[in-house]
Amino acid sequence: MRRRARRLLAAVALATACAGALVTGCSTVNPYYDPTKPHHRPEGFQNIDPAAWMPRSFGEFFRWQRERRALEIPAPNMDLAAIVPDLGFIRGRTNHFSVTWIGHATALVQIGHTNVLTDPHFSERASPVQWAGPKRWQPPAVHVNELPHIDVVLISHNHYDHLDENSVRALNAQPGGPPLFVVPLGLERWLESVGISHTRALDWWDSVQVKDVTVHLTPVQHWSRRTLADTNTTLWGGFVVEGESRGRTRRVFFSGDTGYSKDHFNEIGKRFGGFDLALIPIGAYEPRWFMSAQHVNPEEAVKIHRDLRARLSVGIHWGTFELTDEPLDEPVADLAAASNRLGLGEREFITLRHGETLRLDPFDNP
Ligand code: ZN
Ligand code: ZN
Repeated sequence: MRRRARRLLAAVALATACAGALVTGCSTVNPYYDPTKPHHRPEGFQNIDPAAWMPRSFGEFFRWQRERRALEIPAPNMDLAAIVPDLGFIRGRTNHFSVTWIGHATALVQIGHTNVLTDPHFSERASPVQWAGPKRWQPPAVHVNELPHIDVVLISHNHYDHLDENSVRALNAQPGGPPLFVVPLGLERWLESVGISHTRALDWWDSVQVKDVTVHLTPVQHWSRRTLADTNTTLWGGFVVEGESRGRTRRVFFSGDTGYSKDHFNEIGKRFGGFDLALIPIGAYEPRWFMSAQHVNPEEAVKIHRDLRARLSVGIHWGTFELTDEPLDEPVADLAAASNRLGLGEREFITLRHGETLRLDPFDNP
């Protein structure tokens, strides 16, 4: 009985971890509700095209889980282990433009003198509990206490693989004062509930100046849920970070999780005039019948890269947690095939090793 209860709780942990099913019926009130904004609802938020993402029933979730148990997901062939991070470089506080992939959707973006951390996750599991739910294959390549002082933390949405309580608490307590947590509308209340008050909540297309960068929130096609009763009561989104390194304006896009919607990314590319760097998810996409509305596959990631007019994209959200049915290293092979099929240059859309830093000032490379 106890074992069955644990298995059930583990299934619920997975269902709420990011890729899961939905229970509707919450009766909260959206304090931000603005009837002139189509993505606002009295009880929460919705996608620009509400039909593009529809809630999955628990029946569909359990069908996926049943089919998943019958699969034998091969262990990765690729060596996914982290490399030794260049802590001297990332902690050096020099004026540079770089990105370091720490794992999953956690990346350190350094522009000028500003350190920006995306969707920080340093815990063992992407789950409401640390004894069940999707477990790491790779430890975080950089530990929280090895990071440089973080100025800005971006949280794209409240799924457990993107918003981890232990990690945000640790960052809030960093020496030298807390970072500014920039979040989609509503998530500041959750942060407040865990004792984090240095926050700024944005609606889509709103922006905030932090130190010497400007951060904008953009629409993406996704959803939110942290408990069984708060579906879509907080907003989700992607972020644009604009700043300057060594006299040159730099623009970075970080998408969080998203399904493919050409309109979103064309619009973002048009408004900002393209990007020097885009961080785009390439993993957690199988089975397509369940995932396609919320997670792009590598081919769609390549289309996003094109729509955004990104000069360079780095694939994230793969190789760290096994959330879905594709082998952990399959996104890399699929990305290479899609890049080739769609005519991208060889180094236009790349992946990094866990812990690898990409220096984007050309004269910065050793
Ligand atoms: Zn998600
Ligand atoms: Zn995710």
